[in-house]
Amino acid sequence: MPPDTQTDIATRIAQIRARISESCQQAGREPDSVQLLAVSKTQNIDAVRAVLATGQQHLGENYLQEAVDKVEKLPDACWHFIGGIQSNKTKQIASHFDWVHTVSSEKVARRLSAQRAPDRGPINVLIQVNISREAQKQGVTPEATLGLVERIHGLDNIRLRGLMAIPAPTSEPAVQLKAFGDLRSLRDTVADKLLLPEFDQLSMGMTADFPEAIAQGATWIRIGTAIFGQRTQ
Ligand SMILES: *Cc1c(COP(=O)(O)O)cnc(C)c1O
Repeated sequence: MPPDTQTDIATRIAQIRARISESCQQAGREPDSVQLLAVSKTQNIDAVRAVLATGQQHLGENYLQEAVDKVEKLPDACWHFIGGIQSNKTKQIASHFDWVHTVSSEKVARRLSAQRAPDRGPINVLIQVNISREAQKQGVTPEATLGLVERIHGLDNIRLRGLMAIPAPTSEPAVQLKAFGDLRSLRDTVADKLLLPEFDQLSMGMTADFPEAIAQGATWIRIGTAIFGQRTQ
């Protein structure tokens, strides 16, 4: 990769880190209460190496085959799966990832637990919620979330850590803030009702809306475009 691309990536990551700090300060939060997940889908391995060279450790991928190739080349990074899950692909997810943000069924959770090698430690799981109640959108409904967590939180080789959502795009700031706030309330309700102190994570906010997500309590923001530029594929 050309050296200027490497510099661009380092500069952009530094800019995002500064914006995270600023958003945390405005929200009265500690800057290290928000973690940056660099979404490297469709990016080549050199671009991923450039990200790692800045000290950024957490990488997110959506497409399993592409992801597995990268994980095998760079096994020391911390890899997060954030794409749609077909239940016949859970084995590869269980063996290649440290986190998965997009679980929305009991079947997938049971398979991940059964297929995770116990000596790797449990895989961290977030439940994807269809928080804006869109037709055809992935994720469990808000009403079904508590019941799903209740059925799967005791599984051996997964560790349930919280919720993830991709709210419907909107130009209404109030609607956007409400969607993120609803996800936070739902996480708090589930953690309180089921007495799950580790159910403390919220994966929400992308390039276009991460400051608002941080204002509402995001602990993971998933950023692609602001790090790598516009995706061409
Ligand atoms: C692609 C993707 C992102 C990153 O989106 P950007 O707008 O490029 O920051 C975040 N989360 C998920 C689930 C994605 O698929």
